[in-house]
Amino acid sequence: MPVMFIGHGSPMNAVKNNDFTKSLYRLGQKTDRPAAILVVSAHWLTMHETAVSINPNPHTIYDFGGFPEELYRIKYEPPGHPLLAKNLSTNVQSIKIHEDHEMGLDHGAWTILRHMYPDASVPVFQMSIDYAKPPQFHFDLAGELKRLRKKGVLIIGSGNIVHNLGILNWNDEEGEPFEWAAEFDRTVKKKIIEHDYSSLVHYHNFGAAAKISIPTNDHYLPMLYTLGLLEKNEEIVFTYEAFQHSSISMRCFESV
Ligand code: ZN
Repeated sequence: MPVMFIGHGSPMNAVKNNDFTKSLYRLGQKTDRPAAILVVSAHWLTMHETAVSINPNPHTIYDFGGFPEELYRIKYEPPGHPLLAKNLSTNVQSIKIHEDHEMGLDHGAWTILRHMYPDASVPVFQMSIDYAKPPQFHFDLAGELKRLRKKGVLIIGSGNIVHNLGILNWNDEEGEPFEWAAEFDRTVKKKIIEHDYSSLVHYHNFGAAAKISIPTNDHYLPMLYTLGLLEKNEEIVFTYEAFQHSSISMRCFESV
């Protein structure tokens, strides 16, 4: 299976029909049906452990506040896949993966999958991000998950390359990106094309534009999982490139 990175942006995309959501729908249509989907989302952060959900019936989690009522009425509830989730923990040798029985689907997962697989028939499970660990840890851990791809698991990192909610142009969804945002997004694109993943792990070296684009790295780390899952010399294509609200890069890509 391919690996993907999806820039998920605002939860409102769950109920939108825009260029971004249309690109997600096309992605679901053209990809071979997976045995299951594993999402590493910016919205499941754990401290001092990495967890995998083995919940057979993950519920929809509304992990946001202040959005219109219609968003809280959506249910996106595919089955989980405890067997493949347990398989994930046996594949990882470097650390012990905690098996979580309670986790549902956070909005980094369901707001995008609702467009990719509207009938919720493909099983979905999530793995958490150990927020106590440095970027290199996440890139390396992803490398231990490669075997899942061969078992028919579509692995999706769900975050945003540029994600600064403190400097948001909330009223203009399609507004031009801020200069620093566009600059850092371009840098990341270039490094991905050059397969220079090491410099993306050490993003602090990119200076001011990186600092303001990644005020906290929760939305950036899912991309390191996607990159860490690539085979050597595997190419990627960008499936969506745009900004929302001037400071959120919606850039998406997949391996080919
Ligand atoms: Zn988010």
